[in-house]
Amino acid sequence: MPEEKVMTIREAQADLRQFLDERGWFPTDTEERYYTMLHAMEELGELARVITHLESRRAKIQAQRNDVVLQHEDLILELGDVFCHVLKLAEAYGVSTEESFQRTMAKNRAKYPLDKFKDLNLE
Ligand SMILES: [Mg+2]
Repeated sequence: MPEEKVMTIREAQADLRQFLDERGWFPTDTEERYYTMLHAMEELGELARVITHLESRRAKIQAQRNDVVLQHEDLILELGDVFCHVLKLAEAYGVSTEESFQRTMAKNRAKYPLDKFKDLNLE
């Protein structure tokens, strides 16, 4: 894989916007935004499939049967697909993912202060 420069979230969002604009794929109306959301859910499903595969006995069984075996590389690609769709939705609605992330982390830190939640497993 060619080495790529380190990117901020803001740069990633701008890069995706350029990619969409160059191809005329920016979602401009309700139907296209709905489609983008549905496609994002499809990509999330593909990510879930890879994780289910990696975390279950299924991979071993499929390897024994010479079926397709999903790998860590598939996880990387599906995470990228989900991330691109999050960025695309943010662009479609004029939201900065950087600001969204910062607000969410501030909310999480207020909700789960370190002094009360350190080493407490909530799962
Ligand atoms: Mg995918």
